[in-house]
Amino acid sequence: MNLNKTSRDTLAGSPAVLVPVKRFDQAKLRLTTVLTSEARAKLAREMAEHVLEAASPLPCAVVCDDSQVSQWATSKGAIVLQEPAQGLDQAVSSGVDTLFAHGASEVIIAHSDLPHATNLMRLSGYNGITLVPDRYESGTNVICIPAGCKFKFSYGQGSFRRHLDEALRSGLQVRVVRDSDLGLDVDMPDDLYRAFGTAHPSYLPVLKLPSAMSPPGNLSTDLPVPASALAIGAHPDDIELGCGGTLAKWAGGGATIYYLILTDGSKGTWDRSSSPAMLASLRKEEQNESARRLTSTGAENIIWLDAVDGELECNLANRYEISKIIQSLRPQIILGHDPWRRYRLHPDHRNAGFLTIDAIVAARDHSFSPDSPTDPHRPKALLLFEADQPNHLENISNYLGAKLASLLAHRSQLQSTFGIDPQTMPGPDTDNVDTDEPMSSTAGSSSLAARLEYSARMHGNLVTGITHGEAFHLLTDL
Ligand SMILES: [Zn+2]
Repeated sequence: MNLNKTSRDTLAGSPAVLVPVKRFDQAKLRLTTVLTSEARAKLAREMAEHVLEAASPLPCAVVCDDSQVSQWATSKGAIVLQEPAQGLDQAVSSGVDTLFAHGASEVIIAHSDLPHATNLMRLSGYNGITLVPDRYESGTNVICIPAGCKFKFSYGQGSFRRHLDEALRSGLQVRVVRDSDLGLDVDMPDDLYRAFGTAHPSYLPVLKLPSAMSPPGNLSTDLPVPASALAIGAHPDDIELGCGGTLAKWAGGGATIYYLILTDGSKGTWDRSSSPAMLASLRKEEQNESARRLTSTGAENIIWLDAVDGELECNLANRYEISKIIQSLRPQIILGHDPWRRYRLHPDHRNAGFLTIDAIVAARDHSFSPDSPTDPHRPKALLLFEADQPNHLENISNYLGAKLASLLAHRSQLQSTFGIDPQTMPGPDTDNVDTDEPMSSTAGSSSLAARLEYSARMHGNLVTGITHGEAFHLLTDL
């Protein structure tokens, strides 16, 4: 590609910045759950403008395949390198070649979604290759390469490792700059909070950390894998949502996992033609499949109290039933709903939380149930999920895929609970959900995957060094 004389003059002998920019309305697709398409496009354009400002005073080129982006870049005084659509790697590679062919002494390739980028020129002048990873050390937000260097770009998830290997192969000196400003790119909803905090542009939603995400305190992490654990949920799917990653991890570590589901789930539908009895039986099958996927647990480890969905009462009869189950299973750890979570509406979740706690007290003390056929039992720990005030985090980075697969087994809930059209999902007998894959690429599941990832990242943020977590309130003095 031949540039005009002005561009050639500014490039000759100078470091240059190259910014690949996608069509604005195609950018930031992972934010569709929280932003309208107009807001996404606006955000993408404003972040790109910010990166062009950070390039100043160096000459800056925008590589794109879209006429609107090209017009926008021209209006911002950037050199426009129009490349036919052929993917990011190829676009960057061609852009870099063009800038070197016109005399640039080095090229600084910066992503267009770096809202805290400033003064990119500070990265220039190094005699070798500079890599700036994103804050997860997964992506590569900025790469600087000197003239004459042949560098094979390989963007996409995990690119930092590949780029580092490529840089080391080049034989040039390599430096990695870990920079909190340049390391922040905006991919996921929680990145918006990090990027803009409360000073957010008016077109973004009100960005507020959930109450569970109040400033990090000293959280404990990762209990030792117990020999056995009992998870108690109000409905089929509550357990997977609340603590699925933790259960998958423990099951993988050899723990025996028991499920106690307190209601029959017979009200979980929008379909007025479905009978409560049919739905209750369907949900048992789904729960069996979900447990198989998550913890390799069979139906024999799933106990049903079978209260009517929506009518779970925190009464003595239920407390006694649950305490007998605790005494007979004798789990080391119990997991359940946090009944003290503020402003929760669903009575079953609240009552399930209180029943769990009350039953633990009844199970440990023989005078609560003198005719019980089993001995008292005192678990070592109680983990309350959906915690109002988390004080403990389990690292679930390797178990998001299992959690997703287990939730997708609750097919009757896909539409009403997760907003997924069941038609887009694989059938119940196919095993298309690969639990080794952290994110399923199935169209219908990707929004659920994004939600799980978002929530696990928000929880992970509570403890430095943990990317994906499940937060709990841990009680050990039972
Ligand atoms: Zn529920």
